[in-house]
Amino acid sequence: MLQNTKRPDSPVSIIGAGIAGAWQALLFAQAGHAVTLHERGDEAMTDATSHWAGGMLAPYCEAEVAEPIISRLGLRSLDIWRRELPDTPFNGSLVVAHARERNDFERFARMTEDHRRLDAAGLAELEPSLEGRFRDALFFPAEGHVEPRRVLPQLHERIRAAGGTIKFESDVTANDLDGIVIDCRGLGARDEQSELRGVKGEMILIETSEVQLARPVRLMHPRWPLYVIPREDNLFMLGATSIEAEDTGVSVRSALELLGAAYAVHPAFGEARIVEFGSGLRPAYPDNLPRIGIRGRRITVNGLYRHGFLIAPALAELTLAYVERGQIDNEVMQCL
Ligand SMILES: Cc1cc2nc3c(=O)[nH]c(=O)nc-3n(C[C@H](O)[C@H](O)[C@H](O)COP(=O)(O)OP(=O)(O)OC[C@H]3O[C@@H](n4cnc5c(N)ncnc54)[C@H](O)[C@@H]3O)c2cc1C
Repeated sequence: MLQNTKRPDSPVSIIGAGIAGAWQALLFAQAGHAVTLHERGDEAMTDATSHWAGGMLAPYCEAEVAEPIISRLGLRSLDIWRRELPDTPFNGSLVVAHARERNDFERFARMTEDHRRLDAAGLAELEPSLEGRFRDALFFPAEGHVEPRRVLPQLHERIRAAGGTIKFESDVTANDLDGIVIDCRGLGARDEQSELRGVKGEMILIETSEVQLARPVRLMHPRWPLYVIPREDNLFMLGATSIEAEDTGVSVRSALELLGAAYAVHPAFGEARIVEFGSGLRPAYPDNLPRIGIRGRRITVNGLYRHGFLIAPALAELTLAYVERGQIDNEVMQCL
């Protein structure tokens, strides 16, 4: 426990206003701490990986490839999303496959829980636009999704409402700051954490009024889980590749795969207008697991990899429990 920090008025500085820092700032501000959130970019947040994310809150689907700790943090986070942002859509998510990916689809069904198998009629009832497109689907009813570019400003607003201060265009280091410092700089923390790497994720935004979806649809794919996520204003995000590279931009090959996946979900996507190509670098440690590092009054929260939106609320809750009650979560925390 941080002996001199139990008073709720102890200053808490958080560096980085992406999804990790935003949740830390919100929970600490709500707990009565004097919170200042520093972000080196401007309010558009285009420098943050969080800006490029799909925003799926999918602990059950992710269990196919992720460690159990991700499910634990993810399930806890779903409750916190519901509590703090009750408008978060929890319409579930769908997984579909074409005939050639049948074996992968069955494997996915075996490796995951809390889903229902829908036949073609059941799928059409849930998503009328997908009528006649697939023989069956897996429906994960408890999953949700957020729109990162809307939810980040919402969280920032909630932080201010809870008494926190946000400073944009504030490029700081922990040494500049008093009190408790929570470093949520994502890949920006590589100056101190050389083991961090970026895992590139590419996305495409398209627009059409010909297809309506109420929830993310994942299409089985031999290399990556490709998905189509509905956004407001007839927009759909197509994501996401996962490439061990740190350049930005979108390759022709990735674009073909992402657009091909959308076309496979529904041919009407072939007529959609391309609005944006983009990519972000997911901050990851070598084991691809998140870590809360503790060194005196300095705490680092990083390595959220492909699960930032899914797990950031639970990581913030754990950090707060450590600062206020000295509670240590051995699976996630490490004394540095
Ligand atoms: C294409 C794609 C799709 C994804 N889809 C999903 C998904 O569906 N669900 C999910 O849960 N996750 C998803 N992710 C992963 C998720 O985006 C990341 O895990 C998450 O964004 C990491 O958040 P972060 O806050 O740690 O980092 P960031 O979002 O990068 O935030 C770090 C912030 O720190 C700031 N900063 C850096 N240095 C300083 C400094 N010195 N002073 C002040 N500020 C500083 C940066 O400007 C930045 O804004 C996806 C990622 C990508 C790329």
